[in-house]
Amino acid sequence: MTAKLIKGTEIREQILEEIASEVAQIKGKHGVVPGLVTILIGENPASVSYVTLKIKTAHRLGFKEVQDSQPENISEEDLLALIDKYNNDESINGILVQLPLPKHIDEKKVLNAIDPDKDVDGFHPVNVGRLMIGGDEVKFPPCTPAGIQEMIVRAGVETSGAEVVVVGRSNIVGKPIANMMLQKGEGANSTVTVVHTRTKDLADHCKRADILIVAAGVPGLVKPEWIKPGACVIDVGVNRVGEKVSEKTGKTIAILRGDVDFDEAKQIAGSITPVPGGVGPMTITMLMLNTMKSLKYKLGEN
Ligand code: NAD
Repeated sequence: MTAKLIKGTEIREQILEEIASEVAQIKGKHGVVPGLVTILIGENPASVSYVTLKIKTAHRLGFKEVQDSQPENISEEDLLALIDKYNNDESINGILVQLPLPKHIDEKKVLNAIDPDKDVDGFHPVNVGRLMIGGDEVKFPPCTPAGIQEMIVRAGVETSGAEVVVVGRSNIVGKPIANMMLQKGEGANSTVTVVHTRTKDLADHCKRADILIVAAGVPGLVKPEWIKPGACVIDVGVNRVGEKVSEKTGKTIAILRGDVDFDEAKQIAGSITPVPGGVGPMTITMLMLNTMKSLKYKLGEN
């Protein structure tokens, strides 16, 4: 058996089309579009390329996009003042501070300064609390977990009563996706186990999973024999394992590998996400969806 591929690149296109048509509707009715500001400190190449992709996507959707680039040596005080400015800017619905921040700036202080109603990354403690309560309380689910859940739903995988095993307990992937899958509602109602570096028998837990979500950052951690035949496998891991020259551009690019042994796993799983082209493209997509939602909350359209 060969697993069905759950392609983030395809699901992204569907969702972006849906958002673009909503943007057009709202613009027609209210004369406004979602506004997103991306604050980039310094010139970290990975951050620059991530921010560039966000801007491109926001433009494609017809958002108002503000890119606010600040020097590496900006003071914490000035950065907090900048956030305050955007908190009070009526045309901005989403504020994103690109991480990591320079060492002299307290990341927690900065993220906590963002108005929770504009925190489209979903990292503010208020939004983490809302996610924990679930249901109507949730405003901005964090983007990568939201993307994972959306992929599972759109792939038609049954989550109600399913055994979900999450490998990893980070604040940005493992803990929030575990919390989301156990809530009441569509794409959830699952029985969830979270495993991590201190778990005694990782393989045994994984073998029980109807849905296995792996976010460890360890290439090939999950072996094919850990996968229950027919399971849905979501590989969140993005690991650089080498470099190659791109046939298309002639440029040197990273060779990426997931946390799951993909070639063998796809012979056993019922459905599986590839790396790259799986979960990766979903994160920015969900950021756009959260920004759109933020405007809709403001307009009372939700
Ligand atoms: P993290 O390092 O913060 O957390 C990793 C978690 O995995 C930890 O909780 C740790 O306990 C667990 N873990 C690590 N090694 C383990 C092992 N051998 N056995 C059991 N558990 C183990 O990482 P993160 O930020 O959650 O990211 C995880 C992976 O997902 C990374 O490869 C990262 O690049 C990727 N990622 C991808 C996206 C995306 O595609 N959009 C977004 C976020 C993270």
